[in-house]
Amino acid sequence: MLSARALVKHFGTAPALDGVDFAVAPGESVAVTGPSGSGKSTLLHCLAGIMRPDSGEVRLFDERIDTLSERSRSHLRRTRFAFLFQFGQLLPELPAEENVALPLMLDGTPRKAALGPAREQLRRLGLEGKEGRRPGELSGGEAQRVALARALVIRPAVVFADEPTGALDRTTGDQVMGVLLDTVKDLDAALVVVTHDPRIAARCTRTIEIRDGRLGGVPRAGKGFDGFGGDAAGQRPVIAGDGRFGPEPVAEVWR
Ligand code: ADP
Ligand code: MG
Repeated sequence: MLSARALVKHFGTAPALDGVDFAVAPGESVAVTGPSGSGKSTLLHCLAGIMRPDSGEVRLFDERIDTLSERSRSHLRRTRFAFLFQFGQLLPELPAEENVALPLMLDGTPRKAALGPAREQLRRLGLEGKEGRRPGELSGGEAQRVALARALVIRPAVVFADEPTGALDRTTGDQVMGVLLDTVKDLDAALVVVTHDPRIAARCTRTIEIRDGRLGGVPRAGKGFDGFGGDAAGQRPVIAGDGRFGPEPVAEVWR
């Protein structure tokens, strides 16, 4: 469904991606692992049309998406793709239900019509009764489930998650990841999740490892994760240029 061929992306001289091939099918979940700075987020940015690769191609179903205009890629990001980050993604001044309704409203659905599906999605993720709470009035796990509800409310074809449980304790992280995997399966969507957590990788259908911008390690199925160094700090505070991931306000992603 989503595939990429020979992706190359440079920032300055060293390549952040150096010829990466990738494919994911509906219902599949792919864990992207590898040391900090190895190119994991850059791969997600290129796959999601947030960033254009220097060369190579990205296709959604059969359509080339890397060559689309910024406007078309932005539309794609609002309608077919969903994003889940480590933190900093909810708008603090909005109640949970409005945070979840936001992607629909940004795509032109009137506020009232958007709140129905938003509440339904919150209910499915076990957040009934929390619709009116602002992010500051929710626990970390609840806030991340609200962010997940917002990601899923558009019924995306592909969910991209960059260290989605990195800021949560183990139990809460496991719960959020369980809900993420279940709902992605229900939607028959694909999931691409960057993670440093071997237990999360083991719950995905497949793991790929990126090292120095290249696919490393042997692609393998499910269990038997072979691990890597334990540097958990895969995020930079700011991504310059057209990188719209990470701690920037999520509305930026949907521009
Ligand atoms: P990871 O997510 O695996 O930690 P990244 O994909 O964020 O790695 O980064 C890969 C490499 O590209 C790193 O050397 C990083 O410093 C560099 N890089 C990523 N994004 C940018 C950017 N917008 N500007 C300059 N360098 C970048
Ligand atoms: Mg990263």
